[in-house]
Amino acid sequence: ASGYTLLRDPHHNKGLAFTEKEKDAHYLRGLLPPAIFTQELQEKKLMNILRQYKVPLQRYMAMMDLQERNEKLFYKLLIENVEELLPVVYTPTVGEACQKYGSIFRRPQGLYISLKEKGKILEVLKNWPERNIQVIVVTDGERILGLGDLGCQGMGIPVGKLSLYTALGGLRPSACLPVTIDVGTNNEQLLNDEFYIGLKQKRATGKEYAELLDEFMTAVKQNYGEKVLVQFEDFANHNAFELLTKYSPTHLVFNDDIQGTASVVLAGLLAALNLVGGTLADHKFLFLGAGEAGTGIAELIALEISKQIKGPIEETRKKIWLVDSKGLIVSSRKESLQHFKKPWAHEHEPVKGLLDAVKAIKPTVLIGSSGVGKTFTKEVVEAMASFNEKPLILALSNPTSQSECTAEEAYTWSKGRAIFASGSPFDPVEYNGKVFVPGQANNAYIFPGFGLGLIMSGAIRVHDDLLLAASEALAAQVKQENFDKGLIYPPFSNIRKISAYIAAKVAAKAYELGLSSRLPRPKDLVQHAESCMYSPVYRCYR
Ligand code: NAP
Ligand code: MN
Repeated sequence: ASGYTLLRDPHHNKGLAFTEKEKDAHYLRGLLPPAIFTQELQEKKLMNILRQYKVPLQRYMAMMDLQERNEKLFYKLLIENVEELLPVVYTPTVGEACQKYGSIFRRPQGLYISLKEKGKILEVLKNWPERNIQVIVVTDGERILGLGDLGCQGMGIPVGKLSLYTALGGLRPSACLPVTIDVGTNNEQLLNDEFYIGLKQKRATGKEYAELLDEFMTAVKQNYGEKVLVQFEDFANHNAFELLTKYSPTHLVFNDDIQGTASVVLAGLLAALNLVGGTLADHKFLFLGAGEAGTGIAELIALEISKQIKGPIEETRKKIWLVDSKGLIVSSRKESLQHFKKPWAHEHEPVKGLLDAVKAIKPTVLIGSSGVGKTFTKEVVEAMASFNEKPLILALSNPTSQSECTAEEAYTWSKGRAIFASGSPFDPVEYNGKVFVPGQANNAYIFPGFGLGLIMSGAIRVHDDLLLAASEALAAQVKQENFDKGLIYPPFSNIRKISAYIAAKVAAKAYELGLSSRLPRPKDLVQHAESCMYSPVYRCYR
């Protein structure tokens, strides 16, 4: 191997950090300037450069360039500046990157599987340079973040999610495979764009869609075995629920929009009990939005309560009510309801708007998951505060412009009594001389640690009890000092430790349920998780 090749291999390149000895041993003399930088100095230099870019997309592109040039340095930056760089490599900036993906990407970063590859998907998988894959994140681009159908340009999402799997959950970058399935797009703007990188046709649906997905799922299992984790990401809800139901019995599959969101929100609710008192079963829940997020969260809450009170889930579901675009979901609507809404159609007279639903149901917890902003009005928050000492209000819709209300509104309208968390980040708020810090129900708290737990125990199926274990583990990481500020999530700065702890609890549950194939079970699972985690520190080449 020549030094020139080494410098162009992102997995091994160290740039100016190659030592004198390495320069001699690997034919690098003269190919680099004389100065030798430590990795810390390289990190400092790059952070200085990144901070000079005022446009978020420029920061994103600089990070992607770094990932292509020097992978270890990319992860060192991301791990050590996680609060600053998460919004760059993931939401919200990744959304803008997807919208402009065609014009900004230089080298393809994942695997594209389109209708043209039908019948050849196994061969396509074999074109990928890595053989030993542990996690696949796959999208069909139909519902990218809150931005809708971005077709093939959705690739930014699997790429970004997998960087977080490595940075936060410690999976090896070479074991991660981003995939975009291109069945067309219904986005007219993209279809008319001469620079669009995907198939220029309307989305395939029905049998054609199902067959391509099925060929993919079969090829994945054939090529990588039973223990590869397939994470579905940003599929439209009609496909998301179906794919999860269809492949859960035969594959290790996880949908972050449904299950990951549910687990992270349940964790916040469990933590919030420290502030509001009582048990989860003492609460009554109302959702605005009954899609992937809403019904996913609702189901996991019902499951947790049914475990706690040792009662049937059909009963505990009755504590949970959902409002969709047509109003409160009630049993008189049952016939026309989508499959995933049916368990939530309880006995009640029809109610149209959210305010009336709040007044009729009198929930203790109000959760926004409709994607529509400014729906928790002053009247809604005041109503919540009128019958709750400490109303729990979660405004989950993203991005910030779609949030149901702002942190400031929640605290002001409830006269400082609300416990508030949101999907998009909000700054701390001062109200009546007290500072309130709103928590962010970020999925990145759960999925990296959850995935690590599955992989390290060799789990072959995802079970809802594993999601509950992850929620309980995350909730246990919230400290008194966080509660004192009104937080129901721990700070992100400790995320690798938190992920290791979640991984350990998930793995423990997987072993307990007999879902794990990696035997014998390590004694100390937290220590084992930490020892499994990828390190971004350079290795010495001899
Ligand atoms: P989805 O599957 O499309 O579901 C949206 C739901 O909202 C549907 O039930 C829809 O009603 C309902 N809805 C839409 N407009 C409404 C209106 N004006 N009034 C009442 N209900 C309305 O979307 P999703 O995947 O669940 O995501 C929803 C939101 O949650 C997005 O903004 C997303 O960013 C956010 N989210 C946040 C997190 C997080 O904080 N960690 C995680 C995941 C998602 P119909 O069923 O009648 O159409
Ligand atoms: Mn998603």
